[in-house]
This record gives sequence, structure tokens and C-alpha cells, in this order.
Amino acid sequence: MRAMILQKTGALADQPVPLAMVELPVPTPGSQEVLIKISVCGVCHTELDEIEGRTPPPRLPIVLGHEVVGIVTELGEGVTKHRVGDRVGVGWIYHSDGSKNENLSSEFRATGRDANGGYAEFMTVHENYAFPIPEIFTDEQAAPLLCAGSIGYRALRLTNITNGQPLGLTGFGGSAHIVIQLAQHQFPDSPVYVFARDERERQFALELGSVWAGDTTEHSPEKLQAIIDTTPAWTPVVEAMKNLCPGGRLVVNAIRKQDGDKESLLGLDYENHLWMEREIKSVANITGRDIAEFLTTAATIPIKPNFQTCQLEDANRALLELKQGSIRGAKVLIVGSDDDQN
Ligand SMILES: [Zn+2]
Repeated sequence: MRAMILQKTGALADQPVPLAMVELPVPTPGSQEVLIKISVCGVCHTELDEIEGRTPPPRLPIVLGHEVVGIVTELGEGVTKHRVGDRVGVGWIYHSDGSKNENLSSEFRATGRDANGGYAEFMTVHENYAFPIPEIFTDEQAAPLLCAGSIGYRALRLTNITNGQPLGLTGFGGSAHIVIQLAQHQFPDSPVYVFARDERERQFALELGSVWAGDTTEHSPEKLQAIIDTTPAWTPVVEAMKNLCPGGRLVVNAIRKQDGDKESLLGLDYENHLWMEREIKSVANITGRDIAEFLTTAATIPIKPNFQTCQLEDANRALLELKQGSIRGAKVLIVGSDDDQN
């Protein structure tokens, strides 16, 4: 099978073509695993964290990719949840202990980091971590829901907001443009305020119904109960804190932060940013239950992910564009050939 593999970690500036196209044997599903013939795979910011070594794969080479959509083509021994021909998706959780907090477990293993993922024509995964894709979504629409959407769903829940309380989003890319649609459904009376450096992102936020969109450093017109940060930087963390109301919470939805602007943390002021029980909470990984619940919810709304497609062999260019921030919505790699998609 064709696969794009990562052989060496390092800064993208030093190795702008980090992935190589190779031929690998089609994997064999083990006990309770399914073999998936991959149709599409979304491109996520966490791939950059893996490539650049902020959350490095424990062994190389590895096939990246954790927003995988495809068809089950073979069942390992003992599989009961899926049948050949089922359309399924795989997200960031490749395997864990199945507990309520399996995202925090030492047994948590990530798709495309701790095991081969979706930048290839086939992958295997335990049946518990392959999720049925609701019919309403095309393969391309479903891909960003599996990580950007699902982790956004978890982040929104961790804000603890109730309907009517004002919500902020800082950064407006692959995840936030899905979260705003989810927030409008779950909290219809909560105004959403968006902070973004890029004018096009602010415009996109207004098109999707945010009541206000300003630069990362601006003061929002009212204090916010919670803000979700989906940026890779530190400045938005500090800037968001001043916009929280007493008891407000910043939820940081990023697996790793980059160190480029880390000195901005010195601007964190106890009185203005943290006093009055303001708090900062991270979102770690995802549970299988989050993904299953979110896919069902997303289908009832229905959420409309914005995406651009490119071919699997163009993954390096897609990653570079993501690093440069020149993507509106999400990027999805087309893996299967056209005649496979009938
Ligand atoms: Zn992701």
C-alpha cells in the first residue's frame, strides 16, 4: 500500500519535506481489530507537533494521521461491533483502558503517533476505537469531526458554561469553526466572541454567527464566562485572561504549545489575569465516548465543516500551509482513488 511516513523529527524550517511516500505491506488485523481501507484523512495541527518533536512518536518511521475515514474490509478474530463494508472513522485515541478518564490513562495510545495512522491506504485499529460515521456526512466532511470537532466538543464541555453565558474563542481554525456551530446549538442564548490575528479568520467567524470578532489582544465588549484557546502560541493565553469575568475559565485546547512567544507569559499579571478565581484548564487527548457522542450530536445539528482537499502525496504541502496558517477551516487528504469512492 502507499503510505506517507515520517522518518526523522525536526523543525519544519530545516526539513520542509518531512514525509516520504513509500510502499508498505497492508497490515493484518489482530484479535478484536478491524482493517480499514482509508478514503480520506484530515490534517491536524498535532501532526506539526509530532514532526517538530514537541510530542515525538516513540518509534520511527511512523504513518501520521488521526482524522481517518474509510471502509472496514477485514475483521480480526472476535470482532462483534463492525461488519465488512461499514463506514467508520478513527480519531486521536488509538487505544486506552476504556475507563471514564481513559484520555488521562497511562495506557492512552495515540493514532498516528504511537501506532500507524491514516496517511496511508490501510490501517488497523481495535474495534472499540472505530466509530460509525453518520450517513449525513461525506467522507471529507467527517474527517475534521474526528479530531478538531471531537476535541472541540470536549473543550466546550470543560468550559462548564450554561446557556446564556458569554463564550469566547481565541484562534479560529479547524477546531473553532466547528465549536462555534456546536455552541450555537447547545447554548443558543450564549453570545460567541472570537479573537483572531488574521482578518480572514475574523471575517469567517462573523459569517458563522459570532457577535463580535477582534484581534487576539483586544478587549471584548463584555467579560466572558469562558474562553477556548485553539492557538499554538502563548500570547493568546495571557490576552484571554483579561477578558474573563470573575470565576471565568480559559480552556486550552492544544496538545503542545510552541515556544516562539513564550516570553509573553511574563506579562501574566496576578491581579488582572488570575485573581477572582479565574482559572486555566487544559484539554488532554480524547475519550472514545467523546467521539461517539460528538458524531451523533454533529449529525443532528448538522455541523458543516469547512474544508479543502488535496491528494495524499501532497501531504507535505498541506502541512506547510497549516504551519503558515493559510488554511480556512480544515485540510483533508484524499487517499483512495476516485474509482474507490463509489
Ligand atoms: Zn488532531
